[in-house]
Amino acid sequence: MPPPGGGSAAPRLALIGLRYDENSSFLRGAADAPPLIREALASESSNRWSESGSDLTDAFFDAGDLGPSSGRGMAARVEEAVADLLERGLFPIALGGDHSVTYPILRAFARTYPRLTILHFDAHPDLYDDFGGNRYSHASPFARIMEEGLAQRLVQVGIRACTGHQREQAARFGVEMIEMRAGRDDAELRFDSPVYISFDLDALDPAHAPGVSHREPGGLSTRQALDRIQRIQAPVVGADIVEFNPQRDPTGMTASVCAKLLKEIAGQMLETAR
Ligand code: MN
Ligand code: MN
Repeated sequence: MPPPGGGSAAPRLALIGLRYDENSSFLRGAADAPPLIREALASESSNRWSESGSDLTDAFFDAGDLGPSSGRGMAARVEEAVADLLERGLFPIALGGDHSVTYPILRAFARTYPRLTILHFDAHPDLYDDFGGNRYSHASPFARIMEEGLAQRLVQVGIRACTGHQREQAARFGVEMIEMRAGRDDAELRFDSPVYISFDLDALDPAHAPGVSHREPGGLSTRQALDRIQRIQAPVVGADIVEFNPQRDPTGMTASVCAKLLKEIAGQMLETAR
């Protein structure tokens, strides 16, 4: 597919698959996610409209997949590829990979959007200074992002597996953590700057999305997550959908959930960003 050349019919959103799970601490598999999410999106079991009425048929420029190769590191290549999409005026949505990919993605975003709010869906805060000696672990991206000042604000929802160390890190970085316990998951959120959505599939209850490496019961329903996305009033300018592990998804249910999230995030982008 040729890159978009401008004009009203040109795609405004970009998909980029990230076939990478080398910073996953427990299980591999997230590298296999991108083609399965694309397949679920294209499936004739559903249509290409968001619930709110956006036709997504021609909304996407597909930038293909990025995977590890010899030579330059994956992080540098992710940053460069996302920066290229942003320079073309597109709103990128990254598909697949472990959660470590969000750090290089945000390095690219910070150049275009210096006052970004991250809305982070996850069972885990991913704020470890390092995990098992790896500072670029999928358990650490938001520590790196906040240290480098790549976002003005980090709001986390779905949290239900937080350690003492990560509570200290959250306080140190001023993270707004909305935990599942005590019904805090329905707290109202207001945003006054562009929003980037980072969606770790394990934010959802494993009953809704079993295809994740770290199943943590007691999570959000798919509907609760979609409601959160649809209530965002500020421009949504980018997103990632990470930690889908197809090896743990024998029925394909989680791939369908990824495609649903993708459609609703895309609809929200088209309706809020300009
Ligand atoms: Mn995560
Ligand atoms: Mn997680």
